[in-house]
Amino acid sequence: MKTIAESRPAKAKKATASAAAPAAKRAEPAKTADKLAKLGLTRDIDLVLHLPMRYEDETTLTPIGELLPGETAQTDGVVFDNEIAYRPRRQLVVKLRDDAGDELVLRFLNFYGSQVKQMAVGQRLRVRGDVRGGFFGLEMVHPTVRVVDDDTPLPQALTPVYPSTAGVSQAYLRKAIDNALARTELPELLPRPIAERYCEPLALPPLASAVRTLHHPSADADEAALSDGSHPAWTRIKFDELLAQQLSLKRAHEERRRRTAPAMPRRASGDSASLAARLIEALPFALTHAQQRVVAEISADLAAPHPMQRLLQGDVGSGKTIVAALAAAQAIDAGYQAAMMAPTEILAEQHARKLRGWLEPLGATVAWLAGSLKTKEKRAALAAAASGEARLVIGTHAMIQETVEFARLGLVIVDEQHRFGVAQRLALRAKARKDKAADTADEGGQQGTARAAAGDAREFQPHQLMMSATPIPRTLAMTYYADLDVSTIDELPPGRTPIVTKLISDARRDEVVARVREAALTGRQVYWVCPLIEESETLQLQTAVETYETLAAALPELRVGLVHGRLAPAEKALVMDAFSRNEIQLLVATTVIEVGVDVPNASLMVIEHAERFGLAQLHQLRGRVGRGSTASVCVLLYGGPLSLTARARLKTMRETTDGFEIARRDLEIRGPGEFLGARQSGAAMLRFADLQQDAWLIEPAREAAARLIAEYPDVAMQHLARWLGTREQYLKA
Ligand code: ADP
Ligand code: MG
Repeated sequence: MKTIAESRPAKAKKATASAAAPAAKRAEPAKTADKLAKLGLTRDIDLVLHLPMRYEDETTLTPIGELLPGETAQTDGVVFDNEIAYRPRRQLVVKLRDDAGDELVLRFLNFYGSQVKQMAVGQRLRVRGDVRGGFFGLEMVHPTVRVVDDDTPLPQALTPVYPSTAGVSQAYLRKAIDNALARTELPELLPRPIAERYCEPLALPPLASAVRTLHHPSADADEAALSDGSHPAWTRIKFDELLAQQLSLKRAHEERRRRTAPAMPRRASGDSASLAARLIEALPFALTHAQQRVVAEISADLAAPHPMQRLLQGDVGSGKTIVAALAAAQAIDAGYQAAMMAPTEILAEQHARKLRGWLEPLGATVAWLAGSLKTKEKRAALAAAASGEARLVIGTHAMIQETVEFARLGLVIVDEQHRFGVAQRLALRAKARKDKAADTADEGGQQGTARAAAGDAREFQPHQLMMSATPIPRTLAMTYYADLDVSTIDELPPGRTPIVTKLISDARRDEVVARVREAALTGRQVYWVCPLIEESETLQLQTAVETYETLAAALPELRVGLVHGRLAPAEKALVMDAFSRNEIQLLVATTVIEVGVDVPNASLMVIEHAERFGLAQLHQLRGRVGRGSTASVCVLLYGGPLSLTARARLKTMRETTDGFEIARRDLEIRGPGEFLGARQSGAAMLRFADLQQDAWLIEPAREAAARLIAEYPDVAMQHLARWLGTREQYLKA
């Protein structure tokens, strides 16, 4: 095994710890060491891998006479005047003259006495900064200054500029890094076959030389490539970093495999006692190939004695609910309970209705927990969950997370999971464990037992299935979702007619209203989505009510309904029920109908002020139509003038209904951070690789990680230690 020279602690830190170091010498570095630690720089290897964020070109001097205002330049000259001026405010003004006799003013608004002395008359200074055309000729405000001799040589290479923090100067960092570089061997960790397969085809240099190149580029280095990150030295760094990240994800994955969950094998499809098999038989449609594939993937996970953590992504309308129902059926077949959570009560209610329709005729009891239930009904539902009589419990997150106790919970299904942050999902997982711990503690009836039980419970976890209609591009899924397997439904059920999307200016609202009337009178149902008013919920509500009143007045021959977030859950359910029974022809709605709502007869949607919505939201909303066999239309009403990004969003909506394509463009318009909302754990580990720009490196890094773990586990650990050090804690979030 190779020696790992880099595991030694950095010198600065050693000095703090060493009692033998003279006190006077210790004080200064100790403080700075603290600051370095704040930058995450505690070991030599951390310093070595603290790479420049940009470079400055100090290799040339521009004579003062050739300086141009607006440029950043380096020049030199001898101080011929140095005074502290008080107008307009206290400042140090230093004047330089070069050999040609041209003059430059240096201006310092904050300065120390030592600087005044440093720039005394007669000193030769080399200064670098932004050139401005001042009232008294050319000047630089707060340039970087170096006192030089006539023959001080110019640097031969670009000067690195490091990410830093207040109180740590570039000069100090450079020195600390150079010292660390001198002490560190940085042996190549990648075994020959791995390097040959992944690094050499890309002409990537060995790590040690990549690091040296980046800290000290040679005079003839490709300056542009160093600055924009495309230099092979950078590519090597990014590859190594992504490799570390992938190793870490795989480790988390393996850790999960060591935890236990109930094994819930799938019954044979011929088994007449199998709920899953009977459900498939009873369906009025056949599963698509894509549905069959993901059902098989989930089924295999459920059969394993480790907690499944799977993301099921499929476009709006692709049929995720039946897949979830089949997963629940497999859990029930194995004698466990399943829980299904939806982000809104409307959606939870709809799921309850649908799943009851599917499962109860086959003998499996489904409990529905809604905030709007009467106390007695709620108590009955809770009792059914606690006794195990309810095989599937459906509710909003709030209901299921806070109030329900299960007899034998084996599977948790989270619908529309993109609406929730990682934090919420983790809280849920923790709750499943706590439940178990609490149960055991009650039986034991002692605090000590509770603690012991918590220890045991950590080993137990229900399977988790998360569903999302916001598809995440594969590379992002691989790096953002630390610990998730992904199944994708990439096919819509047959017989859908594509949705035609039209962009219409607000000025033509009357025409749109006329079309709504026409459509409704021919038996179609219509959604009218009210404008989003992010700043004020009250205002949004008011607008919804007004829109409802205007439309009801303009269309007296239609049955018009209104649904919004402030309605009591029972009222909401009444309206949605009436709409799904075609008793309401035109439903005026806020975004409460955004997710999941499924009324196949609705085939026209109008979205007011569509320019205020995000792409994902528009796509979700539009997905409420196009669910039946009638050709559907989505009208995006917009009020001008449109911003560039709003224009790009609306154009995207008109051009495609493919959720994956929309997600791709959304990502392009917004960048990954915003796209995914709450920061996901996997990305926090990356400092150099950019998930967008360097996406092409993820796949090879992933492959290499798999090989390292399988063939060179020691190397995998060393690589992780080198790259992550303290950073890996992010993953445990
Ligand atoms: P989503 O993926 O958006 O949650 P749903 O599960 O609500 O989609 O399904 C949309 C509609 O398609 C529902 O009415 C559902 O019953 C129907 N559906 C699902 N799978 C199929 C299929 N294989 N063939 C025909 N219709 C299907
Ligand atoms: Mg759905």
